[in-house]
Amino acid sequence: MRAKAIIYIDRFLRNFHAVRERVGQTRICVPVKADAYGHGAPEIAKISQEAGAFCLGIATVAEGAELRNEGINIPILLFSQPHPDEIPEIIRAGLVPFISDIEFASALNKQAEAKKCKLPVHLKIDTGMGRLGCRTEEALSLARYIDACSWLDLTGTATHFAVSDSADELDIAFTQEQLTRFNDVVTAMKDAGINPGIIHAANSGAVILHPDSWFDMVRPGLFLYGYKTVEESAAPPEYAQKLSVFKALQAQPVMELRTTVSLIKKINKGESISYGRSWTAPDDTHIAILSLGYDDGLPRLASNNWQAVIDGKAYPLVGRITMDQCFADLGPETNISRWKEAVIFGGGVPGCPAKDAAALADVTGTIPYEITCNINKRVPRIYEAYEAQFREMGYSAGL
Ligand SMILES: *Cc1c(COP(=O)(O)O)cnc(C)c1O
Repeated sequence: MRAKAIIYIDRFLRNFHAVRERVGQTRICVPVKADAYGHGAPEIAKISQEAGAFCLGIATVAEGAELRNEGINIPILLFSQPHPDEIPEIIRAGLVPFISDIEFASALNKQAEAKKCKLPVHLKIDTGMGRLGCRTEEALSLARYIDACSWLDLTGTATHFAVSDSADELDIAFTQEQLTRFNDVVTAMKDAGINPGIIHAANSGAVILHPDSWFDMVRPGLFLYGYKTVEESAAPPEYAQKLSVFKALQAQPVMELRTTVSLIKKINKGESISYGRSWTAPDDTHIAILSLGYDDGLPRLASNNWQAVIDGKAYPLVGRITMDQCFADLGPETNISRWKEAVIFGGGVPGCPAKDAAALADVTGTIPYEITCNINKRVPRIYEAYEAQFREMGYSAGL
């Protein structure tokens, strides 16, 4: 195979289990938007459903419809604002939209009434993220409006954090301020006799750093895919103390990107490799041409700044990464043979020097989210180590 992204199911389940251990009985919503951050939404959704996730989170109506076609039957929350012309599909697929304003609430109510179908919805409150959700001062009146819509069922109330993944003291204070605003609105709703439904706020950062934000449900995405947004140990002393009642969370990268050595070529000292001639061989050497390029999602910015692991040893990538191919310097003496596999990122395997997508994000000035999301669909996802390893580890469905 030219290239593939191996998705280690057992690692995903271990990460899920780590969150489960930390949050106790709190419900878990698994964000599977953007094709489960590039890991393949249908598979991740099925595994999550089996592992006891309460619901899933998606960004587009089409993503939700696809999951329903795949037989997913737990609630699916629609995190982003859909277009009004998608409302029939929301009702048909039984998705749970977030409501930020009266106009959309009213449109949903009308169409739900026409279909004689009571629609579950969540109220979304913007407490400082500055994205979707109503302003806090409008939250109570919007809650009242939704509550009065006979065809809408308010089953949840949510907010989203802007800097919960930072242990900086000012950022911690900002998250606490968001929490205070959120708590105030929820209290006001209850005082007004409105049932807020399931209250939820925490993304990965807040699962790690802010136990007081877990409420009835947490929504960690990145952590479940194996990357930590923040280390507990980075927290200031009073926070570290609060977190010390928990075992440190361990994340294991779920995706491993592999390609193949498609050709090995001897080149002489002074000869250059690839476009722009950005690398010139300092000595006679062997170059492995690897079948992976920026179209596959290997950032071109990683040129001359990354590695490929072949037979357990790391070799530097040299020359510009091209659309479909990149190059590893195997050195003057090599016993690497053609068609060997090369690991571009992965990590978490004892003894294997492969780095993870978070390290690749660091060297290319981005975040691990963007790296895994950008692995192109032309790279097949291969799911491994489910039945055997998972059962061996003693996990069972319904963790
Ligand atoms: C993406 C998303 C999450 C998950 O965020 P992570 O940083 O991946 O944990 C949670 N909630 C909402 C509304 C989101 O859009």
